[in-house]
Amino acid sequence: MSDCLFCKIVAGEIPSDKVYEDDKVLAFNDIDPQAPVHFLVIPKEHIKSSAQITADNSHIVAHIFEVIAKIAADKGISENGFRVVTNCGKDGGQTVGHLHFHVLAGRNIGWPPG
Ligand code: 5GP
Ligand code: ZN
Repeated sequence: MSDCLFCKIVAGEIPSDKVYEDDKVLAFNDIDPQAPVHFLVIPKEHIKSSAQITADNSHIVAHIFEVIAKIAADKGISENGFRVVTNCGKDGGQTVGHLHFHVLAGRNIGWPPG
């Protein structure tokens, strides 16, 4: 989508601090980190949110979780653990309308969310 911030990051029109990339997904550090480790994993394909996951595109979510596990191992955060969050829509606190998974680590992430 031409007016989507994360599609522009995928296209390289807006720079990002890349953590991982393959043909289907991109991971990059969040511009406003909420924990010592805070990166986002997104599908390269534009999907608005987790409310738009269907049988036709759910394979990308499985792939994203494979990628998260791989990055977590590479970053050495698997043992202490991490939080994976996807905000959906207004009440879910989503501010960028392109599906993304936050991965937060490096401190004890509180629960429940605010
Ligand atoms: P949401 O609020 O939609 O769950 O998460 C959007 C996230 O994208 C926020 O954590 C925000 O800091 C991050 N973000 C917004 N604009 C940019 C940007 O231009 N570059 C990067 N790396 N992160 C961004
Ligand atoms: Zn997009």
